[in-house]
Amino acid sequence: MADPHERAAELRHLLNRAGHAYYVLDAPVMEDSVYDRLYRELVELEQNHQGLQRSDSPTKRVGDAPAEGFTSVEHRVGLLSLDNAFNRDDLQAWYERLLKVLGRPNESRLPLVGELKIDGNALALSYRNGVLERAATRGDGSRGEEITANVRTINSIPLCLQVENPPEWVEVRGEAFIPDSTFAVINGERKQRGEALFANPRNACAGTLRQLDPKVVASRRLDFFAYTLHLPDDAQPPSQWAALEWLNTAGFRVNPNRELCADLTAIKRFCDHWEQGRHDLPYATDGVVVKLNDLQLQDEAGFTQRAPRWAIALKYPAEEAPTRLLRVGAQVGRTGAITPVAEFEAVALAGTSVSRATLHNADRIAELDLHLGDTIVVRKAGEIIPEVVRVLPELRPSDATPVQLPQHCPECGSSLVREGDEAATRCVNNSCPAILRGGLRHWVSKGALDVDGFGSKLIEQLVDRGLVRSLADLYRLDAALLSSLDRMGDKSATNLVEALEASKQQPWHRQLYGLGIRHIGEVNAKALSTDFFSIDSLATAALEAPEQIAELHGIGPEISASLGQWLRTPANQQLLQDLRSIGLSLEASSSEQEASGQAGADGVLQSKTLVLTGTLPHLSRSEAKALIEAAGGKVCGSVSKKTDYLVAGEAAGSKLTKAKSLGVTVLSETDLTTMLQP
Ligand code: NAD
Repeated sequence: MADPHERAAELRHLLNRAGHAYYVLDAPVMEDSVYDRLYRELVELEQNHQGLQRSDSPTKRVGDAPAEGFTSVEHRVGLLSLDNAFNRDDLQAWYERLLKVLGRPNESRLPLVGELKIDGNALALSYRNGVLERAATRGDGSRGEEITANVRTINSIPLCLQVENPPEWVEVRGEAFIPDSTFAVINGERKQRGEALFANPRNACAGTLRQLDPKVVASRRLDFFAYTLHLPDDAQPPSQWAALEWLNTAGFRVNPNRELCADLTAIKRFCDHWEQGRHDLPYATDGVVVKLNDLQLQDEAGFTQRAPRWAIALKYPAEEAPTRLLRVGAQVGRTGAITPVAEFEAVALAGTSVSRATLHNADRIAELDLHLGDTIVVRKAGEIIPEVVRVLPELRPSDATPVQLPQHCPECGSSLVREGDEAATRCVNNSCPAILRGGLRHWVSKGALDVDGFGSKLIEQLVDRGLVRSLADLYRLDAALLSSLDRMGDKSATNLVEALEASKQQPWHRQLYGLGIRHIGEVNAKALSTDFFSIDSLATAALEAPEQIAELHGIGPEISASLGQWLRTPANQQLLQDLRSIGLSLEASSSEQEASGQAGADGVLQSKTLVLTGTLPHLSRSEAKALIEAAGGKVCGSVSKKTDYLVAGEAAGSKLTKAKSLGVTVLSETDLTTMLQP
């Protein structure tokens, strides 16, 4: 554990640097969620260790000093930041603290307002006798930059308030932002001009507000939502909800997705709703802001040095977080490829606890310049396996050593090899238990021999106990032996033996796919199986005329070479012999041959390669595939120059874009079915 003083100094240094890049340069050097975690760590250190409190700490500051180039002005009413809650428990704790401060610890129903937290830039607008007099950025909370000329170009900010007899002065706060669609256009134009891209809409907005030429600002079409109102005491409405109504009537845009909630339970429902709902909004939000509704009570609750006590921002679960790298292990895949795996202090990511992430390969480790003990940023988006995105070198311990990939296989100890310009390092020992386990899992999988009941745990037991040393050994298992294994009964053992026996009848293309030859996925196995009816005819072509295979649709020289290499390996020749001896045909049955022959002979899609994408209105993927294959066509997974047609349904994405860029003909479901009509 690092010395708290040293760690706090490191964090202050890093957060100050990140804050400057974010607030002043509009070019963030880390993700917001990473900043938030490091910030929280510093807050906790400062709270828990005597002598760590410092007035110049980033935890005591709002934003950063105003940038140069604009006049700095003092705000009439300070613009503070917001404290953050990262989960429902933090929210509950904030509410309980608030009740205590207000001296009402047992009150359970204190009306609150839920608002979306717009991810833009705070503006302070000053109106004198109803006319916009001055607009400023938040700056450090007490002084900001005067940007009135720029703000006048924002159409949703009224230049004159639409109220009769406006108070002498009115202060409005709100968020200027750039909608997602405008952001895409701005970055697209910058790309064309060869200029640096903005990291996100917030940075684009901040950069725009600080433009010296208001015409540029006008062209960027900024928008604005108002959320805070300050009026002279005698005119101030009684609540936040009434203030929002006032702003709306006075001509401001107020975000319609707001709710006056009777208590915290209702607020939690509001937060739950927008955690999903925000993805459908045309602008970025980074949480929900919860505010006490009664302005009198807000006054009573008051402020800390940098934020009001009567409001809190609930941020949504982060997909990236910083953590400390403890060690790097390695996983051996089915093809012997070694995947380095980062093992780190557990962090909560996208709602789950994560302590391991993939590092892909040795090149990635070098690119990251990874050292043991480094602070790394890990990401988990949606269903994707967690990965290490980058390193924060400022936080590297002085004695940290660079990470090296192991030289030997962690499973069998044999030397690892990296061939040619391949990214992967491999274990090339065919009897490596990890490769065997992966090969067995693949053989019994759905798309291959589809043997029901063979889970990973069972395969592990069979390999670890030396009961299975090759695919063929699976077929030599008997029910008595299987039933003696952990978690196996007589009935399931018998079922397994029957399932294995039945699997011998699986079609030839599945057997070929099941062999797990590199680059021979389901689609290629299918393609090869219709031109070569047995392993023998395929082997003859692969070894004697590889170009014949390379010329087939969707099969290139790399795949053909991989096939040749596999077939030349003596251990694989032995495997084929063993599989034959236990009753696998490794060839197409006469009915399969007939079906391929017919499809090839008179199908309208004969030797055409098609790719399916999106949701078709009537046909399922497998129905469309079956129709295409019956007409002699082949269905491939990805679009390439060799693709003849792309059949696109609703919500077609990158495949459609690629097909268009390659000039591939795009068909609708109707086009396809019309083509197939006799
Ligand atoms: P904040 O963004 O967490 O919250 C305060 C701000 O929320 C207000 O100033 C206001 O602009 C905005 N806001 C949006 N909708 C609102 C609403 N309905 N009501 C009230 N306010 C609303 O705090 P901050 O001080 O602006 O910035 C701190 C945050 O900035 C950090 O949490 C971090 O995520 C980010 N940051 C990132 C980096 C980085 O390197 N990536 C550096 C510094 C700060």
